[in-house]
This record gives sequence, C-alpha cells and structure tokens, in this order.
Amino acid sequence: MEYEVLARKFRPQLFSEVIGQKNILQTLMNALAKNRIAHAYLFSGPKGVGKTTFARLLAKALNCQQKEGIEPCNTCSSCKEIAKSISMDVIEIDGASNRGIDEIRKIKENVGYAASSGNYKIYIIDEVHMLTKEAFNALLKTLEEPPSHVKFFFATTHPSKLPTTIISRCQRFALERFSTSMITEKLETILKSLTIEYEKSALLLIANVADGSMRDAESLLDQVIAFESKVNRANVIESLGIVEKKELYFLDELKRVQNIGPVFELTQKLITSGKDLNLFLEDLMQHIRHYLIIAILKEKATEFLQESTQDMEIYFKNQDLYSKELCLYLLEYLIQSQERFHFTSNKQVLLEVILLEIIQSQKPKRFEDLLDNMQQQPKAKPQEKKKMSQNKMDTIIRFSQVELEGILKKTT
Ligand SMILES: [Zn+2]
Repeated sequence: MEYEVLARKFRPQLFSEVIGQKNILQTLMNALAKNRIAHAYLFSGPKGVGKTTFARLLAKALNCQQKEGIEPCNTCSSCKEIAKSISMDVIEIDGASNRGIDEIRKIKENVGYAASSGNYKIYIIDEVHMLTKEAFNALLKTLEEPPSHVKFFFATTHPSKLPTTIISRCQRFALERFSTSMITEKLETILKSLTIEYEKSALLLIANVADGSMRDAESLLDQVIAFESKVNRANVIESLGIVEKKELYFLDELKRVQNIGPVFELTQKLITSGKDLNLFLEDLMQHIRHYLIIAILKEKATEFLQESTQDMEIYFKNQDLYSKELCLYLLEYLIQSQERFHFTSNKQVLLEVILLEIIQSQKPKRFEDLLDNMQQQPKAKPQEKKKMSQNKMDTIIRFSQVELEGILKKTT
C-alpha cells in the first residue's frame, strides 16, 4: 500500500477531532446546527493551522447524505469523494497555480448548474490571494449574487493581499498557531495509534521546530520515522539536523569565563556534522529569548517556557549572564544577523562573528545609571561635554514597549 503522509492520514474527519481554534469551531458548529451557513467564508492564518481542513469539513457536513447531527458520516459516497478530492460538487482550486481569469470564468459558467448529487456546489480556493486582479473582478461578480446552492470557502496565508471588496463579502475567521502542548499531544496520539515508541522530550523538540504549524510537525515526524523506528531525542536531533542545547550551554560557559578561543572549533564542529545553520540561529534566538523571559517573569517563566526540569535548572543557574537589557540587545542583533545570514556567501565567518559577539557583549548600562554618572562628571568645556554625552548616548540601548513586543513576536 502506498505510504500516506501523517498530515493527511491524521487530518480531522469530524468537528470533534479538531484541535484548538475553539471560537471558530463553535461558530461553525452553531451555524450548521441552525442551518445558517454563509455563502462565503475566508479562513486566514499561518501555514499548517487547519484552514483547508475547516473548509473540507464544512463541505462534507453540508453535502453529507446521512448526516448525524452536524457531523459528516464519512461513509456516504459524497463524504468519501470529498475525502479523496474527486467530488463533482466540491471543487478545490489552488489559487497559486490557477491564478487566471479562465479558472474563475469556468466557475462562473458552472455556478448556474445545480449540484450533481449533493445539496451544494462548493468551491474551495486555497491561497486565494494569489489570484490575478482580473480573476478577482470576475469572482466578485459571482460573490455579489451567488445562487443559493453555491458556497465559497477561501483560504489564505496573506489576507492583507486580498481586495477589500472580496473580504467584505466573506465571513472571516483568523486561525491561530498551535501551542507547543497541542502539537505534542497530537503527535502522541499519532504515535500511540501507530504503536511507535517515543520520548516526550523528543516530541517537544519537534514541536519547537514546527513553530505552531501542525502540518510541519507531522511532516517532521514523518521524516524522523523514516530515519529510525523509535522517536527518541537522539534520533530527532540526528534526522532533523537540530543542534542540541548542549552546544548552547557550552556557549554560556564560554561567556562566563570570557573565553573566545573555542568558538572556531565549535563552529567547525557544527558545519562538519551537517547541522542546519539557519536552524542553529533560530535556536540561538530562542535561547536568548528564554533568558529574557526569565529576566522578566522570574519563577513564572517555568510554566511559560515548557522546558524539561533539567533545562530550566541550567537556565536559572546561568541567568546572571544575561540581563534584560543585554537580551534585548542580543535579540535585536540576532534578528539583523539572520537577515544577513540569508545573503552571505560565507556563513561560517558570520556565525563566528555572532558567537563572539554573544560571548563578549556586556550588559548595556541602564539609562538611569548613565544619567547619574553624567551628573557626577567634573565640569567640562561645553564642546567636549556635548561630544562626551553624545558618545554615552550612543551606548544606551533604549527599547520602547512596542519594540519589545515586536522582538518577542519575531522570535516566537
Ligand atoms: Zn456522509
């Protein structure tokens, strides 16, 4: 039998199987129960959070021939055809590859005809923001006066790229990223049903790399299973090219003793062992973000960060190395470096520079301390004074609340 990828095999087939997105789920289930389904829905959100899953579920529920309550039966011919994407009444269009007006014209020509067997003719357009301007105009006419048996379900990762005229004619749902615990729970369910052995800490690693995308997490799990039959920490690290925290903690130790010599060896090791350097930079950012969160939330950081007890112990032990101000500076520095990282022809050199900066950078002075310091300075000539205070000002790193939120968002 052909191998079915996990994301497809374990896609929710019932509303009761949907994880998270509670408000959206509730609204849709109410609408189904009251038989008040809008003629157009727009599902927006990052990749892998369930936009097309919702669209397909809704399509199945609407056209199911032996619906039980609001849930589709998943056994009638309509449900089966939709699941296989071969239904004549539920037409799925990938907006990215079918961008033109011809596709939309086809829809316009066909909406007039009744559905062949089901109740509704349903058009699911994925990545709808990719359609051309002409295609949108053609679509708009249909959206303005859709026949009652026609429904449009749109999905997009970039709702801001859609014309407002389209958006205003849809009921909109913004889907959220999945939390780490939601992802690890789903992965556990999958592994249990496949009777594959696993370590919880390994699933946590996968969830962290997946960054809120369930589909990414499932694909990563596919990758690990293809590599080894057991899903343990070592296999995940090896198969996904993840850098262990061991290396990050080593960096902390170098910072403590201010020893920069081993940086070159460390970088070399990362490269020769085939680690993904982009991923390493991400991990570095997460690492510093952990210290920032500890600096701000103190003891409460433990429940927020979802790390193992051993890891949290190390973080708390080393927290004196990274003040809040230093974390903010380093995160800003890492975000900028990440952009440069994509374009540099020599990633090794840039990585060495980054690691040296992390080890050597000291806690930036607090604004208040600098002011005190300036007031205590002996009187200087106005010209010199201006120069001096300018230099001091240059060393002050000021972050407004907005910037802090921006940084946290970028690193989440
Ligand atoms: Zn059915």
